[in-house]
Amino acid sequence: MLHDAEFAGIDHEAPFVCTAHKLKPRRCVAFQGSDTGRKFYMCAIENEVLSCGFQSWIDPEWDDSLKHALTKLWAMYNESNNSRIQERYASSKMLKDLTEEKEKLEKKHATLLEEGNRWIDETQRKWIAQTEKKAITENYAKIMSGQHDAEQMEKHIAALKNEVEVLKNAKEELNNLLKSQAEVFKVNGVNKDKVKRIKAICEEE
Ligand SMILES: [Zn+2]
Repeated sequence: MLHDAEFAGIDHEAPFVCTAHKLKPRRCVAFQGSDTGRKFYMCAIENEVLSCGFQSWIDPEWDDSLKHALTKLWAMYNESNNSRIQERYASSKMLKDLTEEKEKLEKKHATLLEEGNRWIDETQRKWIAQTEKKAITENYAKIMSGQHDAEQMEKHIAALKNEVEVLKNAKEELNNLLKSQAEVFKVNGVNKDKVKRIKAICEEE
C-alpha cells in the first residue's frame, strides 16, 4: 500500500461498512502491480489476521496501456533490485574471498617467519657448536704440545741432575785428592796457605 496523506484514515462519510465487522472502511491507495495509485476501501482493522478481508475499489480499473506501463515499470524495478542484491552478494562474496586470502597470506607469512627464525637458530647453534669444537680441538692441541714441552723439560732436568751428580762426584774425588795431598804437605810443612785456599775454592757452593 502507498501512503497518501490526502487519502488516509477511516472514512466516516463512506456510504457502507465492512461485511464482518460493520465498521466504516479505511481509505487506501494501491502500490504494487498494475493498480499503482488506485484508491480503494479496506476493512478498518489493519491487523491482517483479524481483518475481515473487505475491499472495495474507488477508482475504476486503469486502462490497458497504463496497466502495461506499470507492469513494465515494476518488472524493471524488481530487476534492478535483484541486480543490486546480486551486486551486494557479489561484493560481500568478494570481501569474504579477500578476507580468506588475507588470512591465508598472513598464515603463510607467519609460517615463513617461523621457518626463517628456526633456520637462523639452527645456523647459530651449528656455528656455536663448530666454534666450540674448533676451540676445544685447538686447546687440546695446545695442551698436548704443552705436555710434550713438559716431557722435554723433565728430560732436560733429569739430564741436568745427572750432570750435577757427575760434577759432585768429580768434586768429591778432587777434594779427597787434595786432602790427601794436604796431608802430605802438612807432614812436609810446605805451603800450607796455598792448600787452604784451594780447599776453600773446592768447598764453595
Ligand atoms: Zn471488517
